[in-house]
Amino acid sequence: MDWMEKELQDLHVGSAKRQLHRTTSLAQQPGYAIRGARTLLNLSSNDYLGLAQHPKIVEAMREALLSDGAGASASRLVTGNHQPYGELEAAIANWQNSEAALVFGSGYMANVGVISALVGRGDVVFSDGLNHASIVDGVILSRAEHARYRHNDLNHLRALLEKHRDKRRKLIVTDAIFSMDGDAARLSELVRLKREYGAMLMVDEAHGSGIYGRQGQGYCHALGLHDEVDVHMGTFSKAFGVYGAYVCGTHTLIEWLVNKARTLIYSTALPAAVVVGISSALELVRAEHWRRDHLLTHSKSFRSALRDAGFNVIPGDSPIVPVIVGDNETALQFSHALENEGILATAIRPPTVPAGTARIRFSLSAAHTEEQLTMSLGIIERLGRQMGVLA
Ligand SMILES: *Cc1c(COP(=O)(O)O)cnc(C)c1O
Repeated sequence: MDWMEKELQDLHVGSAKRQLHRTTSLAQQPGYAIRGARTLLNLSSNDYLGLAQHPKIVEAMREALLSDGAGASASRLVTGNHQPYGELEAAIANWQNSEAALVFGSGYMANVGVISALVGRGDVVFSDGLNHASIVDGVILSRAEHARYRHNDLNHLRALLEKHRDKRRKLIVTDAIFSMDGDAARLSELVRLKREYGAMLMVDEAHGSGIYGRQGQGYCHALGLHDEVDVHMGTFSKAFGVYGAYVCGTHTLIEWLVNKARTLIYSTALPAAVVVGISSALELVRAEHWRRDHLLTHSKSFRSALRDAGFNVIPGDSPIVPVIVGDNETALQFSHALENEGILATAIRPPTVPAGTARIRFSLSAAHTEEQLTMSLGIIERLGRQMGVLA
């Protein structure tokens, strides 16, 4: 095992070593987190709608825990498919205006299970270069050929589709909103290409679900393209504030996944209490439009304020606001300096993002107030100057 210590030391030297930091959230203070002895404004969570502490969800889960117990005890295909699953899946299908829906243990498990169920040897997956790691892992498990196209470069995608014209099955897969860049996929062009080349299209709405669309159905709905997407995936771990994921599509797709998705078949079902919590969150996601409005308005002004201050901000309109710093060490130091001033904003480094593009990834929440964000902007700008991130 000596090799391990040596490689860890190399990571440390390159400011690329990762560590777990104890973080606690407080039911009374959504939008904040405790690190060490300090309470920090949390600008690094994916709790976009501020639902993770919502008393209605917590109470629904508490009641379900008392009646259904702690764990589901088995895979859904054995004895773990408790009653709340059916209710949630019907509600998700209704919300998404889809024929059917299927709940998975997590977004990671949904992507790995779905992709490996849809394609295999002799097939090809066309995947955006910035897609989430769980998509990449799904392709690897599937043993299909992996044709990665440069981020949002549809000429490159077209060339790859042309090259693989004769493959058995073709799957185009993309994040709707890219998790580390916060920009959006070019969905209408992807729809055109998938039709032209007879490919399936799968969209991961991990950062779109709850945030876009009239009832938070996601970015595809907001563009009116939902019916063109064959496989629609989203998570309950971000805007929903709970845990788990869903896949929507035709009855046939869902039946196929129940038979073939290994992460559904060979893993224990989510506890009933979690499923009940998701159902409760869904009601709030659908009904409380103000959370989306608030979030998107704040995201827009936060992004433009950072850009106006001179930071290298990736354009977009999502609540993910990445400030590119460049090297790992500066990104870490910037993050530490922010923490010293009461702001929790983590550094994102390679291999999560391409080398040389280490960044502070700010992510906003409906739980934040305008005053909190204005105060944060002042601190971020002052530290940015001190540290030479800003000229
Ligand atoms: C977070 C994320 C996932 C994984 O979802 P979990 O529920 O956290 O496992 C999948 N895809 C994208 C784009 C994500 O950002």
